[in-house]
Amino acid sequence: MASVSPISVSDNYDVVVVGSGAAGGQAAYTLAMEGARVLMIEAGRKYDPVSETPMFQTNDTAPLRGAGTPDKYFGFHDATVGGGWIVPGEPYTNASDEEGRQFTWWRARMLGGRTNHWGRIALRNGPYDFKPCSRDGLGFDWPISYEDVAPYYDKVEMLIGVFGSNNGLENTPDSPDGVLLPPPRARIGELLARQRGRGLGIPVIPIHRAVLTRMLDHRAIPPRLHPGNAKAQRILSEDMQGRAACFWATPCGRGCSIRANYQSTTVHLPPALATGNLDILANAMAREVYLDTKGRAAGVTYIDKTTGQEHRASARAVVLAAGACETVRLLLNSKSGRFPNGLANSSGLVGRYIMDTVGAEWGGHVPLLESLPPHNEDGAGGGHVYVPWWLYREQKRGRLGFARGYHVEFGTGKMMPGAEGPYLPDAGGTTSFGSRLKEDARRYYGSYVSFTGRGEMIPNRDSFCEIDPTVVDKWGIPVLRFHWKWSEHEIKQAAHMQRTFADWIEAMGGTNTKAPDPDGRRAIHAGGAIIHEVGGTIMGNSPSNSVTNPWSQAWDVANLFVADGGVFASNADKNPTLTIMALAWRTADRVLDEMRRGNI
Ligand SMILES: Cc1cc2nc3c(=O)[nH]c(=O)nc-3n(C[C@H](O)[C@H](O)[C@H](O)COP(=O)(O)OP(=O)(O)OC[C@H]3O[C@@H](n4cnc5c(N)ncnc54)[C@H](O)[C@@H]3O)c2cc1C
Ligand code: SF4
Repeated sequence: MASVSPISVSDNYDVVVVGSGAAGGQAAYTLAMEGARVLMIEAGRKYDPVSETPMFQTNDTAPLRGAGTPDKYFGFHDATVGGGWIVPGEPYTNASDEEGRQFTWWRARMLGGRTNHWGRIALRNGPYDFKPCSRDGLGFDWPISYEDVAPYYDKVEMLIGVFGSNNGLENTPDSPDGVLLPPPRARIGELLARQRGRGLGIPVIPIHRAVLTRMLDHRAIPPRLHPGNAKAQRILSEDMQGRAACFWATPCGRGCSIRANYQSTTVHLPPALATGNLDILANAMAREVYLDTKGRAAGVTYIDKTTGQEHRASARAVVLAAGACETVRLLLNSKSGRFPNGLANSSGLVGRYIMDTVGAEWGGHVPLLESLPPHNEDGAGGGHVYVPWWLYREQKRGRLGFARGYHVEFGTGKMMPGAEGPYLPDAGGTTSFGSRLKEDARRYYGSYVSFTGRGEMIPNRDSFCEIDPTVVDKWGIPVLRFHWKWSEHEIKQAAHMQRTFADWIEAMGGTNTKAPDPDGRRAIHAGGAIIHEVGGTIMGNSPSNSVTNPWSQAWDVANLFVADGGVFASNADKNPTLTIMALAWRTADRVLDEMRRGNI
């Protein structure tokens, strides 16, 4: 099995998976490796990372020196070959024009979804993150705990390859010995931030990123991931030998043709395809989940984007992995006599409690980092270190004025400059030219440090999406309308981020050229801007307070599952994708169990 067209789609699948990103890739991988016959439906085009990844091109060979444009937001060579902030013919709407009430939605439309580009920061949620309401009375507890997900974090980390270290810090879980790959060395700016952070009581530790610092252990890992399954072990072992270690020299956001970082297209799909159990149908836009006479999911109706024709694909079970909001849209557009308000929506909660990550930035010039001897600071795309949330005690004592924490990511180093050129904070604030430009570049390049705060959002009643009553996309499918509101907790958290970062710049000997936003309203990014949207089909312990059960299985339809971040009952500061993959693996195990038991 491999790529199929609407004509060659079989009528004999166990599972239809909608979406091919982190969630769909992981679900399809687990199902196919364990013997289920899977059809993956993907709205975007096929994408071959080996032949299409522009890893080695330089910006000077690209239009506008590779600068971002509205249709290639992250630059000309970015891996996102379909989709972005604007997807032609596929609008969405916002209910309010009021400042701060808009949601902005990034949608990748390509095989592998956002995983071809993503930042690859792969953090585990900690024990507190699954039970936040029990700690401070806000939002919801998950119906599962860290211990339920930990074995799946282990498996995903071993499969995709994550570097990092175990530091024994509060709510920042360690991985079992031998699971993480060794982290790369910190860059000079990061070392200075660590040294000066100590004086402020801020711990700087190696970040966890899905990049291979050495080849995966192709002998030890496959039996741990697929015990008793010789075929899966053989396929995975062979596949792992085809993934090279990182050589630290090319921007990861363009994708990785040597398969050293995690993309669904380089890690999940090749072994799943090698089983012969996976068919991939690209350019197919799922429109609804249709039902059989007993009210069970019978399959998915989709538009073949190449012809505009509508088709159906049937299976014993349906797994939705289209990204949290797109999964909401599919469910709400799946109306029937039995489910007039949308599928799996007897609670009325489909679309409710969507969340993003709180984001605020700060940066400054640090004279100590000027005029360093030329040296190579390439490495994995993005920082090599980060700061997990460190103020649990102060927060518990009520000293911060807001609930929930944030982590800090860094931007430092002398990597290959992008279209904008080296940062040159020349003394007079004017641009330099000629030999002065060269002197300035040697002196200043690499002396600018940036801090990125990424914080937890508490789910609230004012942040949700629904079907817009009038607007449809180019295939006539009703689109989503968003409602958004940050609470004071998130806004104050953003203010705290900027204040902390400004202090830190001074502790590093730098100067702040402006004052941090004391209020947080200007500092905080719009909803959706951090591209960590989750929720909308949250999991819970009862059909009245949630859309899915603790196994991501719809309460209303036993053979319908959600594998993406829709099931998140809270959105910890940790970037969501490792948790999405861990839960997708767990969900796929549930599908297999339910099929074995004859329940679906
Ligand atoms: C610039 C950027 C940086 C990021 N950095 C990080 C990071 O460092 N760490 C982290 O944890 N997360 C990061 N993320 C977020 C991460 O990419 C997402 O959390 C993750 O990809 C979500 O996986 P998913 O499978 O749910 O969605 P996606 O990866 O978006 O995949 C969904 C797929 O479903 C397809 N689809 C949608 N609707 C339909 C339909 N109706 N029919 C058929 N197919 C459909 C889409 O085309 C897409 O291919 C980043 C994202 C971006 C854009
Ligand atoms: S830096 Fe490493 S992981 Fe990133 S694209 Fe280059 S080789 Fe691949």
